[in-house]
Amino acid sequence: MSAECIFCRIAAGALPAVKIYEDADTLAFLDIGPIVKGHALVIPRQHYDPITQTPEPVLARLMAVVKKIAQAQMNGLRADGVNVIQANGAAAGQMVPHLHFHVIPRYRADGHHWNWAAKKYEQPEEMQRLAAAIQAAL
Ligand code: 5GP
Ligand code: ZN
Repeated sequence: MSAECIFCRIAAGALPAVKIYEDADTLAFLDIGPIVKGHALVIPRQHYDPITQTPEPVLARLMAVVKKIAQAQMNGLRADGVNVIQANGAAAGQMVPHLHFHVIPRYRADGHHWNWAAKKYEQPEEMQRLAAAIQAAL
């Protein structure tokens, strides 16, 4: 546990949170600033960050809880859909550097928009080049 990490402190019970699920490894609680009410965060109790430094078994356990929470938002909150989001690094909009998945209930008329502005590749070759660069690093 890191004494400066908000989510470590929540996991340790040193800071309050509105919890919705917990087991030996994982905790889910409501985000204090919901995009849509019912917005939950799923975290490992142990401090990991970013996703690329997190062991696969930890991610597998987290994903099982993400699925459970998403289903519960659909069943319990009558959500029409769910967004699952996870940020790594300030450039990606991450504010709390303790691995977490946002699980956000969505409704047809919830009024939230991502402002997702799709761009275009200049040439098909550019797309091929980027794919090759990622593939070469796998
Ligand atoms: P990030 O941008 O790092 O992916 O998201 C961090 C999230 O944590 C934000 O949505 C923010 O509202 C939430 N958050 C920050 N501090 C607290 C806190 O003390 N308690 C709870 N429940 N959520 C928090
Ligand atoms: Zn932490």
